[in-house]
Amino acid sequence: MARILLIGCNQATSPYHVFPLGLAQVAGALNSQGHEVRQIDILSSELSIAELLAKHASFEPHAIGVSVRNIDDVDSHNIEANWYLAQTRNVIVEIKKQYAVPVILGGAGFSLMAEKILEFTGADVGVIGEGETAMPELIKKLSASNWQATALPRVFSAPLLTGDKIPAPLIDHDMGKFYAQKTGIMGIQSKRGCPYGCAYCSYPLIEGAKLRCREPESVAEQMERAHKDFGVSHFVFCDSVFNDKQGHFLQVAEAIKKRSLPVHWSGYFRPSHMTKDELEFLQSAGLNALEIGTDSASDATLEGMNKPFTFDDVHHFNSLCTELELAAAHFIIMGGPKEDRSTVKTGLRNIKALTRSVVFVYQGARVLPGTRIEKIARDEGVIAPQDSLLRPVYYHSPLISEEEVKVMLEADFAGDITRLFPPSKADKMDKALRSMGHKGILWDKLLARPTGRTRQRSSRASADRGCNG
Ligand code: SF4
Repeated sequence: MARILLIGCNQATSPYHVFPLGLAQVAGALNSQGHEVRQIDILSSELSIAELLAKHASFEPHAIGVSVRNIDDVDSHNIEANWYLAQTRNVIVEIKKQYAVPVILGGAGFSLMAEKILEFTGADVGVIGEGETAMPELIKKLSASNWQATALPRVFSAPLLTGDKIPAPLIDHDMGKFYAQKTGIMGIQSKRGCPYGCAYCSYPLIEGAKLRCREPESVAEQMERAHKDFGVSHFVFCDSVFNDKQGHFLQVAEAIKKRSLPVHWSGYFRPSHMTKDELEFLQSAGLNALEIGTDSASDATLEGMNKPFTFDDVHHFNSLCTELELAAAHFIIMGGPKEDRSTVKTGLRNIKALTRSVVFVYQGARVLPGTRIEKIARDEGVIAPQDSLLRPVYYHSPLISEEEVKVMLEADFAGDITRLFPPSKADKMDKALRSMGHKGILWDKLLARPTGRTRQRSSRASADRGCNG
């Protein structure tokens, strides 16, 4: 059996220090096959990569895996500063200085442009798709080739796991403690895959279009363990869409509720096809905040983004959240396909009408390979045919200038702490609240506190779950 060093090289701290869930998932899969695995990451070590690698030299790994979670931060106003691949390349350079073993790349970001990222970073080989299956297979092949990566294909993939086979992560004790203490938050998945085809989104390309759902009980058990072992107080479901049409999300909520866990949770929601009763049920199981994939601000641009709902649906969904005093955040990209002066004006009116909500606004859609927006951008000549997309490239509608959109947004959101544009405004808010000792998702702190009626319901739900907070 082999010794494998897994490195999380994410260095972004906005919106918060994100626990490297993918790394822990792969560690669990390797561990279950008898390999000796050590997980380290730059953020929780608070060391430079050179110091971190030197500290673990005595482990003498046979191979090193590096996880690339994101390529950049999708903020068109901050392109070079937050292009994470430059940092990844520095990590690989340092590894190669200190170790003469194969360096394997993997992770969601890597899967999008595997060959190009290998070439850019100088890593030896990579796994695309699901690391829990691909990585153990690759380790087997590397071991058989006496750890000579040159004898193998550069990119290795394996079939997608069915939902019941998606393993729970192996959480390194020190890392678990660090993230729980720093933010109180841990990510969790109850399913993989996304059946929708939003124009800019790479999720279905990475996870497939078919939903693969985990056993609700194993999801709730993972939450209970992370709460007991590390003190995690808030879970973020990083499923593509938590409220799936089939209703698996209700079974997950039921399993969580049964355990009376004193935690809160949030997730990504589609703003349609949910009743007030369903939302109320999720609230009684600990849901306290919803991150809503609204994505565009008018019906014309929703259609341009291939979203399967209208802004009336968004308003209705938001009003249910307001009524139940559930914190709601909308994520909106302005300047996408079909955006022009009139859709921006309509969009600003629509955003204004979103009661008791935070709105994160981005300008321009990051173009990723294989997405619908790549085709639109190439057809419209918005990006050059030879553009590799490795460095961030954004689609801005040719029907209105970027400057005009920016001026309109800034004028409309001036002085409103709940309308976060440009995205750096959200970063500043995060840092300020974190420095005041706040933990959790933070954006909910920008909203008016719940009033009497729902405070009663919240505390009743908390009491049902044995929550003192
Ligand atoms: S934006 Fe959300 S709903 Fe749309 S394809 Fe991506 S993950 Fe699916």
